[in-house]
Amino acid sequence: MTYGFLGLGIMGTAMASNLVRAGFDVVVWNRTETACSPLCELGARNAPTAADVVDAADITFVMLSDDAALRELWYAEGGVLAGVSAGRGVVNMSTIGDDTSTELSAAVVQLGGRYLEAPVTGTKKPAEDGLLVILGAGDRHLYDAALPAFEVMGKRSVYLGEVGNGARMKLVINMIMGNVMLALAEGMALAERSDLDPGLLLDLVAEGAVANPMFSIKGPMLIDRSYPPSFPLKHMKKDLKLALQLAEKQGQVLPQTAEANETFKRAELAGRGDEDFSAVFEALQ
Ligand code: NAP
Repeated sequence: MTYGFLGLGIMGTAMASNLVRAGFDVVVWNRTETACSPLCELGARNAPTAADVVDAADITFVMLSDDAALRELWYAEGGVLAGVSAGRGVVNMSTIGDDTSTELSAAVVQLGGRYLEAPVTGTKKPAEDGLLVILGAGDRHLYDAALPAFEVMGKRSVYLGEVGNGARMKLVINMIMGNVMLALAEGMALAERSDLDPGLLLDLVAEGAVANPMFSIKGPMLIDRSYPPSFPLKHMKKDLKLALQLAEKQGQVLPQTAEANETFKRAELAGRGDEDFSAVFEALQ
């Protein structure tokens, strides 16, 4: 079994590294080639194009930033579709809209390939530790075939049925996370403005019913006003927009998420997009 990996950003680098360390034969490609070097030092092979990776691998995992990046890579010369042939598997693990995922799936299947969407929850550290949660949907045979890799990259994987269900589940989870992050940021801002000790606030919140593992990781970043990216703010902004689009389609009101989207937008417009999404705190100052 040879695995391919396209997209070696924060998440892709960690996930592909775990596959290599687990002893799998892995072929990688990244738009900016320098990102391949650490993987090659671990033992991965580097292919010149994405098409070469898809052609060489039984199953290729894809971890790019957003819908536009996926579309570009799918249809480009030397892109994903140029490498798809009968039986080749493509697993998109990026967070994108359900309609885009359905479109990408159809294009792969039309060429005789198999498609699975498998977005993940968990950020940089869980990715490094192989503790992601993987939300699979699409080709059931491909899901089963990818399980040995999912077991290396994640602590749990679920199969959710038809393409789109994984994308939608992921957007709902991230929408909740964005709102919760903003609730923490507002609480910390008000505590500081009221001359309350923000560290003590975190301790006290951790004792009660709203205790949240994310608070103990992100809370100190707010206190230090330092936001090295685990989950870049621009990606949370993307996910909130996608969740609002999904809500529009489904006829669901999301008043709080609409507000959150505006606050994250303010932070992104202020140049915080490449910082961690906890930098939304700065939009409240
Ligand atoms: P990232 O560090 O920003 O990496 C993005 C990757 O996409 C890079 O490899 C980048 O290549 C590539 N890319 C962007 N545009 C491209 C294009 N037009 N053509 C080809 N490649 C392109 O992002 P990340 O944090 O790893 O996240 C990746 C995906 O996982 C996103 O959908 C994100 O929402 C999702 N996710 C992230 C986290 C997290 O905590 N970080 C958690 C769960 C899910 P270059 O190196 O050339 O720029």
